[in-house]
Amino acid sequence: MKLSLVSAVVLPALVSAHGVHHARQAAAQAAAASSSTSSAAAPASSAVVGTSAAPGTTPAAPAASSVTLTFTLASTNPSALPLSEIASGAPSQPTVPASTTFAAGASPTFLSGAPALPSIGSIVVANYPPLDKTPPTDSAEVQQWKAEVASSGVTIPDIAPTVAGGCAANPQAAADTSRCWWTCGGCPGPNDVVSCPDKMTWGLTYDDGPALYTGELLSYLDQQNLKATFFVVGSRAISYPALLQEEYMAQHQIAVHTWSHPEMTTLTNDQVIAELGWSRKIIKDVLGVTPTYWRPPYGDVDNRVRVIATAMGLQTSIWTRISPTATFDTGDFNIAGGTTNAEQVLNNWHSIVNNATQIDTGFIVLEHDLFQQTVEIAKDYILPDALAHQPPFKIEPIVSCLGLPLSDAYVETNNNKSHPIGCTSSASGSSGSGAQASGSSNSSGADSSNNGAMGALSAPNALAAVALSVVSGALALFL
Ligand SMILES: [Zn+2]
Repeated sequence: MKLSLVSAVVLPALVSAHGVHHARQAAAQAAAASSSTSSAAAPASSAVVGTSAAPGTTPAAPAASSVTLTFTLASTNPSALPLSEIASGAPSQPTVPASTTFAAGASPTFLSGAPALPSIGSIVVANYPPLDKTPPTDSAEVQQWKAEVASSGVTIPDIAPTVAGGCAANPQAAADTSRCWWTCGGCPGPNDVVSCPDKMTWGLTYDDGPALYTGELLSYLDQQNLKATFFVVGSRAISYPALLQEEYMAQHQIAVHTWSHPEMTTLTNDQVIAELGWSRKIIKDVLGVTPTYWRPPYGDVDNRVRVIATAMGLQTSIWTRISPTATFDTGDFNIAGGTTNAEQVLNNWHSIVNNATQIDTGFIVLEHDLFQQTVEIAKDYILPDALAHQPPFKIEPIVSCLGLPLSDAYVETNNNKSHPIGCTSSASGSSGSGAQASGSSNSSGADSSNNGAMGALSAPNALAAVALSVVSGALALFL
């Protein structure tokens, strides 16, 4: 049955690698869940919400179809698909294209000082790296971004890249607390965003898009007057620029999730710069603004990657983790590949809600707008349940839950007062000299001012990101 669904895009290496990664996570989730008799009254310490397991740490495939729902949702979408139809290999539902095609020059009036929207038609795909691969590091653009990092005043720690395979494949790195590797042990950097400060506040995020079903999610969010943070993969942004503009113009926060969705700690410094730089650039080229937040794919970040992101003006933002077995990951990504099912994802969600009501802060949850199934579970079940929750959750984008204006989410509109992006060392006199000068020579010519601005940033407290892969409408990716 799955074979009939093999339409659409085939993203060979990247997607299969990503699928394997997430399958491992799903296995870990299932194992964690099965080892706990979770009940609605379970205390936070025993409630199970997925895992932050790194790739390679957990073998074994779960029996996704055997999981059943263990609680009652407070509400569902009246038009919700049955859970049995939110499954791997499900027939493709109609897609919702960008509801509005914005004209070049349209003005984002909600953001003071924001430039007019660029013309999507002027984007030349050939001027960007191949999709879903870490970009080459010898391009003029990457050389320019390297100069930007070098002139930032930040010292990149001498930490070796990890090898693929996560914690199990890197026992020394995993044990090295000075590395502060979030993947292995959940170590957050001092400036990482891992929760919202106010209790009962949910920093709503969706990763890996924009993609075929993002329009459906945007439509639902609009109906409910909800705003979210979208962590955008550069390779998807260039594929669905109209949807990215729709997200932005609907006043959602747009943030970076890398160009090709790699495990960032496995990359060289130059490759990290290339991943962040190209994703930052395509967003700027489509929207006219440059994000100040990023999320590392798989949460794979350590002090080396953090510092490079900081030097590039990107604030590292992950998701909430209160114990090794209570990470706020719905596991929604794994429905499409068949390593979990919709019921398990909702059980994970229920545990997240239980934990969220018991911690002293707000929270951030990992979800995706990449697949039909992830969008359906979000708009048909998770969001309706969250909206009906008592006491109510306050649901908003990350930048908002931090108490900052949306304008702080972008370089061009950030006044550097409430959320300064690196400028503390810019007074040193050398700041920005190299990068700023070279910024105007960017081959695209589209973002010279941005590069200049970023070049001037030295980065005391900034941050980082992530991204992923694509999809096809119907997902044959995991066959
Ligand atoms: Zn991702």
